[in-house]
Amino acid sequence: MCGIVGYIGNKQAYPILINGLKRLEYRGYDSAGIAIFNGDLNVYKKQGKVQELVNFTKSKNTQGTIGIGHTRWATHGEPNDTNAHPHVSGNGRLTLIHNGIIENYALLKEALKKEGHTFQSETDTEVLVHLIEELQTRENLKIEEAVRVALSKVIGAYAIVVIDREDPDKLVAARKASPLVVGIGEDEFFVASDPTPIAEFTQKVVFLNDEEIAVVTRDGDLQIKSIENEIQNPFIQELDIKIEEMEKGDFEHYMLKEIYEQPKTVADCMRGRVNAAEGWIKVGGVDTCKDRIFNANRFIIAACGTSWHAGLIGEYLFEELARIPVEVEYASELRYRNPIINEKDVVIALSQSGETADTLAALEMAKSKGALCYGIVNNVGSSIARLTHAGSYIHAGPEIGVASTKAFTGQVTLLSMMAIHLGYERGTIPRSYYLQLLEELENIPNKIDRLLKNAQKQIEFIAGEIKDAPNALYLGRGYNFPIALEGALKLKEISYIHAEGYPAAEMKHGPIALIDENMPVIVIATNKSAYEKIVSNIQEVKARKGKVIAIVKEGDSIIREIADYTIEIPDTDEPLTPLLSVIPLQLLSYHIALMRGCNVDQPRNLAKSVTVE
Ligand code: GLU
Repeated sequence: MCGIVGYIGNKQAYPILINGLKRLEYRGYDSAGIAIFNGDLNVYKKQGKVQELVNFTKSKNTQGTIGIGHTRWATHGEPNDTNAHPHVSGNGRLTLIHNGIIENYALLKEALKKEGHTFQSETDTEVLVHLIEELQTRENLKIEEAVRVALSKVIGAYAIVVIDREDPDKLVAARKASPLVVGIGEDEFFVASDPTPIAEFTQKVVFLNDEEIAVVTRDGDLQIKSIENEIQNPFIQELDIKIEEMEKGDFEHYMLKEIYEQPKTVADCMRGRVNAAEGWIKVGGVDTCKDRIFNANRFIIAACGTSWHAGLIGEYLFEELARIPVEVEYASELRYRNPIINEKDVVIALSQSGETADTLAALEMAKSKGALCYGIVNNVGSSIARLTHAGSYIHAGPEIGVASTKAFTGQVTLLSMMAIHLGYERGTIPRSYYLQLLEELENIPNKIDRLLKNAQKQIEFIAGEIKDAPNALYLGRGYNFPIALEGALKLKEISYIHAEGYPAAEMKHGPIALIDENMPVIVIATNKSAYEKIVSNIQEVKARKGKVIAIVKEGDSIIREIADYTIEIPDTDEPLTPLLSVIPLQLLSYHIALMRGCNVDQPRNLAKSVTVE
């Protein structure tokens, strides 16, 4: 959360910072601010979206070739102009942007107040810039040294960039538990929370490690030190990000674009990994630690939000196909209880960004207990990718819409591949079924494509019918139970309609009390096993006058007779059903949110890449 960007070089900083902030806006949009140095330091900040800042700065002096910018997701202090970043130190010398939380800010603030510091904002961040100033002035330190000493006194998470107006030809950046990447251009440097503000200028980057401080200077120098003052060798990587992947193209919203990209992103996830004709499946990460994965006592899947729902599907897949016991945990719970984890366990972390704070912390804990840690992430070079012993990228490309869509299907594709691979290699599925699943996997992108083309109109129509409902219930069984949870989450996130997902049979243990003619009940009823059971569940809803929207297999005539509306999706093998059944639910939420006038890509209070606890 919070997006930060910095630039030093020969170009004007302002457009680079503003475009960078627009790319990072998915990380938070409570306020936006910039600081640009041009002999004088100009700081402009505004509550609201980056566009507010653009409007505000139209008549202002934004000249300068060094600057920093911030888009905020507030943790400490309400979203207003004063709490917006950048924050300036008491003597006006230092300006700082921050992503993260300074947990011991209250103690530090007290101590600084005793030294005579006064504060403008309610943020934890302002305390940090005052602390750096205090150390710099007291000990007459260079800015990078003052930052280093200050950070050694800080508890919490941070990605920061600082400008010192007395030493204005450098940016000082540092990170711990919040992401930061340095872009290396021709006579210029960029610093950002992720590579999207950088990729159009250079593909050469260094992902900072925890507790590293980078200094980039106007004369082309990049130096990285640890917080212990040891010089580090920068590990320079080449990105492979295409500009069009970061743009909306012809779509009205990123979310819609990302929904429609799924035939491609699912295919990209499988590229080079599955070949049905030759009968093989390869998941590189699994093969690098085959023994420990094959002989694991159990898998523990740790994740948050939508990734947690993908994890639940993983549980069904691994247990059914590979006969490996699985537990799925909310990372935030796993990290703070005292779980029994040992070296016979494999902990699989699912995270789109690869930066989710709770998931990272859960992994660190599991690693310290000797478990093998496996990461399934989208963002290349992210913290989880680097922390884990092995892992796989889902190759979905940048996901900008705050509500996750293509990253979810990427995670489920990856988990499906792993489960089929392990099932076959461990001898828990016969070769004939293995080959059938491979073939079906390869068919999924075309089936998603067909579904998107055929169901679009019907979904839009249904959205219009139920858009004013205050509540909605999502029901599913087996592989479709996590899809019910995911459908409900998507609706809540972007349309602000209260929605619950339930295993269909659980309905009668509580939620059935809520059903009346105003309650839309979305039933995912594509199951082959337990089909009659789910038909009975639909009857139970209808008997109480509930409005049933059923997701069914193409050609299903039984449910069409009883449901109010049906959406048909192509048939597939049951373990692969979630890859299809989630798509209409994503689209349904999208259209409902649109009809309700909600901001689909930037829903209120939410942000993507949750790098705070
Ligand atoms: N703690 C800082 C603030 O509230 C940064 C928040 C964040 O990174 O999400 O402004």
